[in-house]
Amino acid sequence: MKKIFCDITKCVGCKGCEIACAVEHSKAKGLSAALKERPLPKRRVKVSSSDKKILSIHCQHCADAPCILACMSGALSKEKESGKTVHDKDRCVGCWMCIMACPFGAIVRNIEDHIAVKCDLCPDREDFACVRACPTGALFVGTEEEFKKILKKKTHV
Ligand code: SF4
Ligand code: SF4
Repeated sequence: MKKIFCDITKCVGCKGCEIACAVEHSKAKGLSAALKERPLPKRRVKVSSSDKKILSIHCQHCADAPCILACMSGALSKEKESGKTVHDKDRCVGCWMCIMACPFGAIVRNIEDHIAVKCDLCPDREDFACVRACPTGALFVGTEEEFKKILKKKTHV
């Protein structure tokens, strides 16, 4: 399946992807109106920075998703046709086991509603809000194999 990957050689940590994600998950779907919403809309991607690297972290919709195995309430499941890992907010009890189980750190706490939130691959649009917003082209949409090919080319330049 196609996923969102981050090219760490291009990410500058501007957090444009986080803002675009939160706006896409707002009621208004526009920045200024979204800023007035309470609770504030939540982002489902996370920019992580350390001395060595900056990257935007996205759910990888793993085939054998550890978060699904860890979720006792059945809030996380696999959508058969698309391969997406999906989250049902009505079944989520906010135990945070999925957050502990995710090897990428891609699941986020929504403290106000006491539920987990994660990337849902923008179901209300054709493209992806974070990818469109990224000013450096650091975010790539494709299969794991396609992304690996791009990285391989870079290391051979
Ligand atoms: S918008 Fe692009 S460059 Fe900015 S933090 Fe996100 S991935 Fe990195
Ligand atoms: S926080 Fe919600 S989605 Fe995560 S493991 Fe607990 S019940 Fe499942």
